[in-house]
Amino acid sequence: MDIYKFGGSSFATAERIKQVFFDIKDVKKCVIVLSAVGKIDNNDIKLTDLLIDVCKKRRKSTKQAKKTVNRIRRKMFNIGKELDLPDSYFRSFNEFLSDIDLYDDNYIISRGEYFTCKMFSLYTGIKFIDSMELIKFDNEFFSYEKTKKEVLRIKLEKFITSGFYGSDNYGNIVLFPRGGGDITGSILANIFQSKTYFNCTDVNGVYTIPPDYSINHETVNQMNYSQLFYLCMHGNNVFSKDAIPYLVGRKISLIIKNSLDFNAPFTIVSDNLPNNKFTTTQVEKGLYCIIIYKSKKTLLFRILYQILQIIMSDKIIIYDIISTQKLCQIIYKTNKQIHLELSPVTSKYYSLQKLTAIRTTNFLNGKKNTSVKYVTSN
Ligand code: ASP
Repeated sequence: MDIYKFGGSSFATAERIKQVFFDIKDVKKCVIVLSAVGKIDNNDIKLTDLLIDVCKKRRKSTKQAKKTVNRIRRKMFNIGKELDLPDSYFRSFNEFLSDIDLYDDNYIISRGEYFTCKMFSLYTGIKFIDSMELIKFDNEFFSYEKTKKEVLRIKLEKFITSGFYGSDNYGNIVLFPRGGGDITGSILANIFQSKTYFNCTDVNGVYTIPPDYSINHETVNQMNYSQLFYLCMHGNNVFSKDAIPYLVGRKISLIIKNSLDFNAPFTIVSDNLPNNKFTTTQVEKGLYCIIIYKSKKTLLFRILYQILQIIMSDKIIIYDIISTQKLCQIIYKTNKQIHLELSPVTSKYYSLQKLTAIRTTNFLNGKKNTSVKYVTSN
């Protein structure tokens, strides 16, 4: 059974949802995995982000949380109305929103994919199986064995299921990391021994250069899983790196394509693809750099020791260390703010910078040559 996973951008408007239905309506056997309604453009906000915002705001101010709840209602009702959905859909969505305070955060956040699936199921008439029934966790750890048992019970030839979440032994919702719809798709492709996993997004597969960085971007037509993993580890977020292990060695072809234009170029990823030569430029934002000026040797080691202690205790991954005669740069990536509480006397020996890494990689006959340039960012 093939897998079709659609990202939120494919579901950002009623028109796009109709397009998705057009793309899959003649496919006889498949699982359709959906993410929550995404954003139309950069001024819009993804449904998942709005739900996360409600969870944050409800702890501080009911009024602010209500504002976001109203925005969610408007966003989902507009699409629902354009699709001419039955009253029952609007009623159950309204019930959820008015009782939102009764639920825990994971449940609230998971309703993004849940209601997106409900909407698509009502519009298309394709049955929806809640991933709560399929994707199983032991506490917060994904259980492959339990999931396999549940998935193989299903005898349907075509159904919709929700990406990004599952449930534990007590019926609590457990979430995958952000972008986790790709993981759900991979797990199902693995268990169903799918020949093809179509991962449908809003770009034409994996590009040689990010489109917002250069207009000279092209689609890489084919690559293997280790190449994809490398690109995902270094700033390419077209596919979730955590979803790759379920596909490796299973003879599954992953096709990353554009749901807004099914005839556009796409990328095919599979286990054995020899001669896959190509060059990519990856732009990885959000890096930080501590520059230590090597003026007094003993002080340098003291500063280094303190910095490494902070980095390691916060489990922050060091990205690169560059040492020249005059400077030592420690580059790391984190979403957290790290606080360097070094003694005032050391302060003139180091500074902090925000960086973007521009990584050019040349894949050639199973080898790769990489060069990285760091530029300061705000
Ligand atoms: N909706 C979730 C997110 O925005 C999961 C996904 O899109 O795959 O991260």
